[in-house]
Amino acid sequence: MKNKKFKGISTVALHSTSNEHDNFSHTTPIYATSTFTFDSTNEGMERFKGADKTRIYSRWGNPTFVAAEKTIEALEAHGLLNDKGEPLELKALLHSSGQAAMSTLFLSNLSAGDTLVSHYSLYGGTQELMQKLLAEAGIKTILIDVRDIKLLEKTIQENKTIKLIHLETPANPTLQCVDIEAICTLAHQHNIKVSVDNTVATPYLQQPFALGADFVFHSATKFLNGHGSALNGVLLGKDLEFMKTKVWKWHVLLGGNSNAFDSYLLIQGMKTLEIRMDRHCSNTEKVAAFLDKHPAIEKVNYTGLASHPDHAIAKKQMKQHAPLISFELKGGIDAGKKFIDALEVCTRAVSLGTVDTLVSHPASMTHFGIAREERIKYGISDGLIRMSVGIENFEDLEADLAQALAKI
Ligand SMILES: *Cc1c(COP(=O)(O)O)cnc(C)c1O
Repeated sequence: MKNKKFKGISTVALHSTSNEHDNFSHTTPIYATSTFTFDSTNEGMERFKGADKTRIYSRWGNPTFVAAEKTIEALEAHGLLNDKGEPLELKALLHSSGQAAMSTLFLSNLSAGDTLVSHYSLYGGTQELMQKLLAEAGIKTILIDVRDIKLLEKTIQENKTIKLIHLETPANPTLQCVDIEAICTLAHQHNIKVSVDNTVATPYLQQPFALGADFVFHSATKFLNGHGSALNGVLLGKDLEFMKTKVWKWHVLLGGNSNAFDSYLLIQGMKTLEIRMDRHCSNTEKVAAFLDKHPAIEKVNYTGLASHPDHAIAKKQMKQHAPLISFELKGGIDAGKKFIDALEVCTRAVSLGTVDTLVSHPASMTHFGIAREERIKYGISDGLIRMSVGIENFEDLEADLAQALAKI
């Protein structure tokens, strides 16, 4: 493996793609092809029989997807060792979106009669997938506060059908964090697997495999791509055999494969992950400090503030605090609308993890599909505003926030 000698994560991001470029192309070519040719029937048969099925038909894999997968594998495994003390090997499967990767994750690990446990603060689409669609397929979801490890243990003891615990940490948009290592230790004692949605942290800030996770999930649409130019999702696992057999089968037959152009955009984006994240993180710290002391602000959710309930756990398991914040204005939802409409630099849009700052209103947008009482119980009030802090010069963000807050 080429990446094991790399000390820093930017070097990993720049030099871990496979270099199977026929024509000496410096960047990874976009293999815009649905199928791959065989020189003879025998060669075709050999490719079908072989372990590498990425040069047969693009739903099964494609050199551009593979290049992206290799980079993500190297990023999530960077500096980690397996039980035998060897460099950790992972298998990544690139999907058309985060939701496609999540469908593969759930359906390859759970079937009718099984139970899934998760923390109650989740991305809206994940929660809807669990409570609306998996429920229809006979898979039950229990949402609890998994930060209460005793409650989790009691839940495990009372429900013998739990097969998977899915964690999203930090959670979008409440920034709640859960202790990955403590939960993995408990889950593994009961033969339960653990998956972690690492979208908000990225492998630069947090490596769930180092803390015991069995699977890592990313909406690669967000910080991994970084520029808001494509959708992608990735599912990684450390049980290579399971990933290459059962998980691969679900991936290929559900048909949630990526495409060569979006994969290419993801590869380009990941090259600057570290330097983007450093700037996203330092800007977020400054924005949070500015908002926290502003008289119009009721509350700021940012794990870097000592007032955040999960500040300590975030500090323990992340390299820096994640560049996502949410906040409430004293004037509630009306003030929130006026504030969002008055912004002149920040972009009004859902999604997160792009180089420019995105501001959205979860109650009417990303979490619109969740019942109001439930949403409020899970920390998403009517007036909550979410901000994915970009890499603009801080002075411009500060001036924009100040002028918009003056207008409410
Ligand atoms: C966006 C997002 C998803 C879903 O990913 P898509 O790429 O939009 O399908 C899942 N989890 C989190 C935390 C997200 O932010």
